[in-house]
Amino acid sequence: MKEYLICHYAEIGLKGNNRGFFENQLKKNIRNSWPDFDFEKIKTISKRIILEIDGLSVEEKIIWQKKLKKIFGIAYFSFARESKATEKAMAQTGLKLLAEKDFNSFCVRVQRSDKDFPFTSIEMEKRIGALILKKTKKKVDLKNPDQILFVEIIKGHVFVYLEKILGAGGLPVGTAGRAICLLSDGIDSPVAAWQMMKRGLEIIFLHFSSYSKDEALALNKVKKIVKELNNYQGQSKLYLIPFKNWQQKVLKRAGRYGCLLCKRTMLELAERIAQKEKCFTLVTGDSLGQVASQTLENMRAIDKIVNLLILRPLIGFNKQEIINLAQKINTYNLSIIPTKFYCQDILPPHPITRANLEQLIKLEEEIEIETESIKKEILSQAQINIFH
Ligand code: ATP
Ligand code: MG
Repeated sequence: MKEYLICHYAEIGLKGNNRGFFENQLKKNIRNSWPDFDFEKIKTISKRIILEIDGLSVEEKIIWQKKLKKIFGIAYFSFARESKATEKAMAQTGLKLLAEKDFNSFCVRVQRSDKDFPFTSIEMEKRIGALILKKTKKKVDLKNPDQILFVEIIKGHVFVYLEKILGAGGLPVGTAGRAICLLSDGIDSPVAAWQMMKRGLEIIFLHFSSYSKDEALALNKVKKIVKELNNYQGQSKLYLIPFKNWQQKVLKRAGRYGCLLCKRTMLELAERIAQKEKCFTLVTGDSLGQVASQTLENMRAIDKIVNLLILRPLIGFNKQEIINLAQKINTYNLSIIPTKFYCQDILPPHPITRANLEQLIKLEEEIEIETESIKKEILSQAQINIFH
């Protein structure tokens, strides 16, 4: 009885002619999670990705399960045994699996995509169920059974298993292209990155660092956040840009426009990195009204500086909803480690909430002459970290 992992797609099944592209990316993402795994053992059969996993220990299976739950594009997956295509063999395989379980009632659910198979799914459920009933003397309960025995009959294979493990859903990372995520060390932006990975975007992380103390500790925190998020995409790049020099030169002169100037420069530098990375999309963790820089007027003024598509997946989320997600994806406990940004010491008491774009641009033009060289310098000092 060979052992397999059967992965059922989430929305890929709906993609018609493009399905092959989505399937291949999902297969690639699964492979990336296990560089040591023999690629020959991953196949696509009847809208499922099937991995031959004979000989895995219980501990290894737990690791596989944890990893698979973080691969977008999988609706659910199961550890299954292969069976011969006779009802007797299917019942025997089921009995072996059920022997390890304590249960009083059961039912059989058959999914049959091999339409050449001579019996319908319901007929097979009755036939296999009758054989199991005879051997175990347990009760059949179709509504609320203690155990469900799942049987999948597909072209050339029959798989039997007891559990459907819920996957992450969404679309395989990479199928929607690439984007740069402006990652602060706060709660929101890691969640924003995760939300967009869920829709198939591969995320490149960009962090501007400007700490007034314990910089190494703070950067370590940012790296840990990326490491956690990397579980969802297998490989990640993080740009760390030293920003203090720029802030020191500019912020004191920018008055109430300081935050806006700061965000616009972040976007401007992000655009230069996006060009290098051959992408045209930015992701941020903004949520409408959360802080002064996140009013409609200010977000518009911020966006105007670049010619990029800017995605704000958290725009309509309440803080508590964002926190709940951050806890779910294990970034929350990292995000709340206290750090101190340099600008916190010199922030204006009343930052502008409704930007006047003309005034803002005038101010930038005054400062620009001196800052272009700093921008170039800090970009050249960008540190790139790769996560596997
Ligand atoms: P977060 O939104 O990540 O919790 P925050 O709320 O403290 O952090 P804001 O000042 O509200 O951050 O900034 C809004 C968005 O701007 C962030 O979600 C993030 O996308 C981006 N951003 C802020 N600070 C940085 C930074 N230091 N480096 C990169 N991006 C940043
Ligand atoms: Mg925020």
